[in-house]
Amino acid sequence: MRFYNTNKKSASVSLKEAALKGLASDGGLFMPQRIPRLPDKFFKTIQALSFQDINFAVAKNFLGADISDNDLRKIVDSAINFDAPLKKLSGNIFALELFHGPTAAFKDFGARFAGRLLAYLRGDSKDKLIILVATSGDTGSAVASGFFNVPCTQVVILYPSGRVSNLQEKLLTTMGGNVLALEIKGTFDDCQRLVKQAFVDAELNNHLRLTSANSINIARLLAQLFYYFYGWAQLKNQNDNVVISVPSGNFGNLTAGLMAKRMGLPVAKFIAATNINDVFGEYLKTGKFRPRLSRPTISNAMDVGNPSNFARMLELYDHDVNKIRADVFHARFTDAQTKKAISQVFQKYRYLMDPHTAIGYLGLTHYQKIHHNCNGIFLATAHPAKFSEIIEETLKQKIEIPKRLKKYQRRKKQSVVLPNEFKALKNFLLNL
Ligand SMILES: *Cc1c(COP(=O)(O)O)cnc(C)c1O
Repeated sequence: MRFYNTNKKSASVSLKEAALKGLASDGGLFMPQRIPRLPDKFFKTIQALSFQDINFAVAKNFLGADISDNDLRKIVDSAINFDAPLKKLSGNIFALELFHGPTAAFKDFGARFAGRLLAYLRGDSKDKLIILVATSGDTGSAVASGFFNVPCTQVVILYPSGRVSNLQEKLLTTMGGNVLALEIKGTFDDCQRLVKQAFVDAELNNHLRLTSANSINIARLLAQLFYYFYGWAQLKNQNDNVVISVPSGNFGNLTAGLMAKRMGLPVAKFIAATNINDVFGEYLKTGKFRPRLSRPTISNAMDVGNPSNFARMLELYDHDVNKIRADVFHARFTDAQTKKAISQVFQKYRYLMDPHTAIGYLGLTHYQKIHHNCNGIFLATAHPAKFSEIIEETLKQKIEIPKRLKKYQRRKKQSVVLPNEFKALKNFLLNL
């Protein structure tokens, strides 16, 4: 399949070019030229399929012409080698847990898949590929883990100094090997801006092969389609009123959900749940998109003032806000509401939620108050232990850290501190 540029100023590109470039040279995003519709039979028989079978079937629609079944199966299976269980909280409230991968956030799906896909597409090419990624906390470690020890790649992560949780920072800065962490004296928006600037800087691109592994990379987005199908398949009662609430920041996760719907997944409505950084909510209300600086919250991976997948959503809906409104409901929540939800859900269901997941839960239950009788799934995007400081402060009790995460806590942070200036980043990269 070929991929077009959302700016539409250049011709479509191959899978390899889209995945290796990440972002088009004019700043546009890549989108699949076609979003295939899956046959009804697929949905009728989906409950008999394993997670791996579903992943492969979905991926084949986009990548089948470029990659043999055998190779694609290997890529998909080795990338998604962990489960995404649907947990029932009550009769019509379910959590789809996406945090069972190595860095305990849903970003493991996209990052692991992108790492393997890129390695496959490059074959035995020997020139060093620099994977440049801005993170508000979770992307960086997922990408670091997804690309760890992939030959001829150097991962460079930019993260906002002092704005990530302890465990997030340890996951980011202690990987070693081909992973470097740059601690930027600024916000996530600054990190994202620096990365975008690097991609369009002629001198840098003449000297280095840069690629992005942010959710702007289409390879990441494709793997995020998988769990929507699997989550739906795990519902016992697949009535025609299934809604899915997605805690959103850069809107990669939601965009993948909307693409799954376009492929035929019977979801009545998506709920875009955000923290107070709700530029998208404002767009739905007013029809005007006014990106601005982000404000820090306890759901830091969603502190985004200029969501990078917005252009993709516009493409999916022909730039028509009314069409988006028909599929997407928006709700926003404050830190106080988030903490209250963490504590209420723990009291009521003994279920622990991280702050991002709590916003997903709040979005769903808010929607269910207005629209009764719908079957709701909220995406649990990070393991609660990743945000233990906030949860322990909220619940006034200690929570357990899983063994696989504990080992990072003991490691020593290693980062390079850089000022919030493009010149500094550029110099650093040219001297790598
Ligand atoms: C990145 C992230 C989000 C937001 O996902 P987007 O695709 O950027 O909208 C939500 N929750 C967690 C835990 C994340 O790491």
